[in-house]
Amino acid sequence: MKLNLHKLPEDLDRNYIINQLKSSDEELFINANNIRNQYKKNYVHLRALIEFTNICKCNCLYCGLRCENKNIERYRLSEDEILNCVENAVKKEYKTIVLQGGEDAFWTQEKICSLIKKIKNYDVALTLSIGERSFEDYKAFKEAGADRYLLRIETTDKKLYEQMHPNMSFENRIRCLKDIKNLGYEVGTGVLVGLPNQSIDSLADDILFFKEIEADMVGIGPFIAHPDTPLAKENQNNFDLALRVMALTRIILPNANIPATTAMETLKKNGRILALNSGANVVMPNFTDINYCKNYEIYPNKASLTSIEEIKKIGRVISKTKGFKFDY
Ligand code: SAH
Repeated sequence: MKLNLHKLPEDLDRNYIINQLKSSDEELFINANNIRNQYKKNYVHLRALIEFTNICKCNCLYCGLRCENKNIERYRLSEDEILNCVENAVKKEYKTIVLQGGEDAFWTQEKICSLIKKIKNYDVALTLSIGERSFEDYKAFKEAGADRYLLRIETTDKKLYEQMHPNMSFENRIRCLKDIKNLGYEVGTGVLVGLPNQSIDSLADDILFFKEIEADMVGIGPFIAHPDTPLAKENQNNFDLALRVMALTRIILPNANIPATTAMETLKKNGRILALNSGANVVMPNFTDINYCKNYEIYPNKASLTSIEEIKKIGRVISKTKGFKFDY
């Protein structure tokens, strides 16, 4: 079914979404690509990802960084090492830095604020992705200069959420997202697609949730089984379903910034390009020091970057702006 672009997105009800998730109709990708082209033009925003610590107090069942995984070499970059990665990105004309890490207690409010101020001395936008913190922390980070915050809800199925995240609560996750929104950050969220016991109906609710909280950025990743986690044997290829969730997210949130995620490339060669042609408009190349990034193993065999040339070959242009929601 070809969508009428002028009637979007009010038309999209839960049943439509569920039917689209169950179908294998390729038209969905064409629709999402057209909407991306209409709202975001042909610009791709690059974000320099710095995975600055893999130390984590959480024990998420799917994640290789979970605290109970002893088969991983832990690291924490120093402030100077992080600033070195930032400089490398700035030299390559990147306009957004993403600081991502495990929930590492070493990085107190004070230390994160000091780092934020140093990064903001460069002419860049700064995104944080460091998990659940207090309102006071989020407020201090915002005042220190952070612009955006990524915190995936992972799943909106509360029961599944609590199965996947021992000692964490769904309510606190929502509290964090609300705090981040109220403090004036651009808010990024997203989900894993293909978790054990995740239903199609719950994925439809996930998409409606992105709309409900008016997410500015949405990252959709296929779940990839990590051998050193309790979900090691849950291996299946969730690429196609993740791509459908991503395309529907573009349709329901036409202005959102949506990355072609590394997890997609990991599951399918050329997966990033397929994602860019199915609604995505952001790519997040890794700027973590080469000596460490191999140990940021949230899932195995993480794909490396799609070359900028590949992105240009499909007719896309690298944006020179900081890539806020309404920037081209
Ligand atoms: N501590 C931060 C960053 C987590 S890592 C936070 O809590 O936000 C970033 C994302 O990697 C997670 O939100 C999760 O959705 C994804 N991830 C973790 N393990 C994964 C796996 N096995 N397969 C695919 N994606 C995974």
